[in-house]
Amino acid sequence: MFLQRLAEYSDRIERPPSLYAPMPIHWLIVIDENGKPLNMTSLIRDGDRKRGGEVRFAPSLGNLRTSGIAPLLLADNGGYVLGKVAKGKKDKRVQDCHKAFKELIRECAGETQLPEVEAIRKFYDEHFSELKIPDDFDPADNITFRVNECWVIDLPEVREFWLKWAMCKYELLGAARCCLVCGQTKPVLRRLPWAIKGVPRGQSSGTAGTALISANSDAFSSYGLKETFVSPICFDCAERAVSALNALLQDDRTHLIIGDVVYCFWTREPCEFDVVNLLSQPTLEMVQRLLESVRTGQPAAIEAQDFYAAALSANNARVVVRSYWESTLPSIQRNLARWFEWQQLHRADGSDQPLTVSRLAASLYHKPNAIEPGVVETLVRCALTGAPLPEHLLFLAVKRNCAEQKVPYERAKLIKAVLASRTVSSASEGRTGIETEPKEVLTMLNRNLNDPAYKCGRLLAVIEAIQSRAIGNPSQTVTDRYYGSASSTPASIFGTLLRLAQVHLNKLRKENQAAFLERELHDAMPDQFPATLTLRQQGLFALGYFHQRAEMYKPRQRTETQHQQLMMEEGTES
Ligand SMILES: [Zn+2]
Repeated sequence: MFLQRLAEYSDRIERPPSLYAPMPIHWLIVIDENGKPLNMTSLIRDGDRKRGGEVRFAPSLGNLRTSGIAPLLLADNGGYVLGKVAKGKKDKRVQDCHKAFKELIRECAGETQLPEVEAIRKFYDEHFSELKIPDDFDPADNITFRVNECWVIDLPEVREFWLKWAMCKYELLGAARCCLVCGQTKPVLRRLPWAIKGVPRGQSSGTAGTALISANSDAFSSYGLKETFVSPICFDCAERAVSALNALLQDDRTHLIIGDVVYCFWTREPCEFDVVNLLSQPTLEMVQRLLESVRTGQPAAIEAQDFYAAALSANNARVVVRSYWESTLPSIQRNLARWFEWQQLHRADGSDQPLTVSRLAASLYHKPNAIEPGVVETLVRCALTGAPLPEHLLFLAVKRNCAEQKVPYERAKLIKAVLASRTVSSASEGRTGIETEPKEVLTMLNRNLNDPAYKCGRLLAVIEAIQSRAIGNPSQTVTDRYYGSASSTPASIFGTLLRLAQVHLNKLRKENQAAFLERELHDAMPDQFPATLTLRQQGLFALGYFHQRAEMYKPRQRTETQHQQLMMEEGTES
């Protein structure tokens, strides 16, 4: 279906003529109808060669143009057009290229009988030495021709000749078969002469790009690179699909690159809903608008139409379609609304900040380039499909908490999202755990939640605050030292921690500063200290710790002077 949907999308974009592609043209050789050169005009804007010349649709061979000699009709680089040798290139090869370029023009002139092409043939045969080549010309620049006022590559007969010539020369078409996309029996493509541009790590420099050769519709969750295959597809359908994909990869509203994977999103009809923005830079306002429109089901906001998404990456010179799926826009909007509800979590100042999948994924690793691509893909899939987040993410988060001995906001949010997304499924499996709907109770401190793991996490945060209050800024807090063991084996460590806290509290009592802390200590105390905590319980422990810490450093009323002092000294870093 992927190729069908792309072919449909191609009706909504401006497509180049067959086997044409956008090319930056740096120079224009202007000749008269007798082939006499009039001038060689620079099209380089503001003298900035890097930004290229004037971009026009010009003959293209996409991926077929590799190291062999393969001239493009009437528009090519200085080696082909003028036989000029660029630095580091072999002269013999360039002369062969130049010869092939001229030969192709001769063929075109003979076949089309166009006076414009004939003039260019004459230019090469009779007037070539009269051309004055400007000093700032670079052999790597692209050049084409104008005969008087006519851009020759734009002539319909030239386009037609090029298509026929290239198809025949490169034997693009094979036997007639039923095309996978249009269903008609037509000669199917043997080779794909187009490049896909914009896939991370694809060969996107110059005229080359990545070839689209795989189109499987495997489940999104399969991360392995599937054996690629060329589907039976006719020339027209393939060209439409490639143009559409390139258009999606050009438009910022339809693609999102995260790491080595690019995600493309599009709908059957044009629509206002911006998935890319919601995933790449969600703001509280955007999320609230989404939640509101989903809640009220406003017809203006919910557009009932089909939605498509694909995840692509590059494998050498090939595009790998890692996953593709179809849904409807209302369903995507509902799922995204739920996604943002899952990750709702308040900081000490009461604010909530929706996070991108990249930031959530990065919180699981010691450095951004260690992120496994599968993790990001999983997050994107869950965000769009509403599937519960896998426990593996919880495992990574808990492991990272223990390694760093802390629970930053990003990771706490991810833990919250995993737990919230899995509540329904675990309840149906008859497991015990959170007794109420976590999306409501775990966004901030829940004093009614009597789960021992959650309370152990809270208790650690209180003990940390007591220590901090009693001895200023310790070089190593109890959390720095004991987070890992408190989170995995609470019974083994909390006895020691509580004794330590009592010593600090005695000091604070003398200074009349213990009341609030003692109250919190009492409130966070679990009925018992479990010997070990399961993965899920360690997730709850982390949230308990995060919530309590936010509570300790929360801005308060003036009457609670003690706490205010504490807050001022601690800052509100949580
Ligand atoms: Zn077809």
